[in-house]
Amino acid sequence: LAKKSNKEHFVYYKQEMEDKTLWRLGMIRQLRTDFADNRLELWYQPQLSLATGKVIGAEALLRWRTADGNFISPAEFIPLAEYSGLIIDIGDWVINQACLQIKSLEEQSFDQVSISVNVSIPQFKRANFVDSIIDATHKHDIHPHKLELEITENILMDEPQVVVDALVRLKKEGISIALDDFGTGYSSLSYLQQLPLDRLKVDRAFVNTIATPGQSIIADTIINLGKQMNLKVIAEGIENKDQEEHLKAQMCDEVQGFFYAKPMPADEFLAFLKQNN
Ligand code: C2E
Ligand code: MG
Ligand code: MG
Ligand code: MG
Repeated sequence: LAKKSNKEHFVYYKQEMEDKTLWRLGMIRQLRTDFADNRLELWYQPQLSLATGKVIGAEALLRWRTADGNFISPAEFIPLAEYSGLIIDIGDWVINQACLQIKSLEEQSFDQVSISVNVSIPQFKRANFVDSIIDATHKHDIHPHKLELEITENILMDEPQVVVDALVRLKKEGISIALDDFGTGYSSLSYLQQLPLDRLKVDRAFVNTIATPGQSIIADTIINLGKQMNLKVIAEGIENKDQEEHLKAQMCDEVQGFFYAKPMPADEFLAFLKQNN
């Protein structure tokens, strides 16, 4: 009897895996079609200086608007884009859009506003990645430091030296580099020192509990580490005033979170800038 139920369990499990695989393949097919049909949008979440309250930049975040008007979260479709290789073309599109946005902000005299773009591992591992970024800044004739690439620690998982070399080249061209979600991934403090970083991003997970007594030690330590390394420190996921107060007291430089603004389409971001700067 035990054998039988084991077998049944296995059959059920196998069916579930096949369903999941089919579902994934369906999503990838839809993503490919919708990307070709211009259904991906790049939204912008403002980043502010804690000292001045002014908008100093924005993080570009992908949105997938399906034909029925629903949004699918990037947390859901980025892994599929990575798995299928679609992330290469989508990533090129994102860089291009971000450069267009930087140019348009420059033309409207928002000279201090930079745009951060998330870059995932397969994009980075591509042979001509560095050149493609440099080419984009030339083609759009933008100041390269206004384009910031957000990488995560996981990018260092294999061939860390290749990654360090690529970042050094990008940095030489003036492109800015931020370390995203710091402390949540594969930690490599020894490589951290070699990375030509401009900013350290404190992950939302550590900001969440920051206003609770005794629960701020990781955020505080990351802020301190960033300062010691002469980096700008930006905290993400600020949702209330208490969190802001704590970050101010810790001398965190910059903030991003729903407390200030959610990610928004490009035209709304422009309106937000006009109102706040
Ligand atoms: P991330 O780079 O860590 O981006 C920050 C995420 O936190 C965004 O989620 C943002 O909407 C969310 N967030 C910001 N402030 C708050 C807050 O106060 N409260 C809460 N609850 N959430 C907040 P989003 O837009 O869903 O993006 C999820 C992830 O998808 C990003 O995490 C990033 O890893 C990835 N992603 C998004 N766009 C791109 C892209 O263009 N390329 C790549 N490779 N990855 C992307
Ligand atoms: Mg990010
Ligand atoms: Mg992040
Ligand atoms: Mg994150």
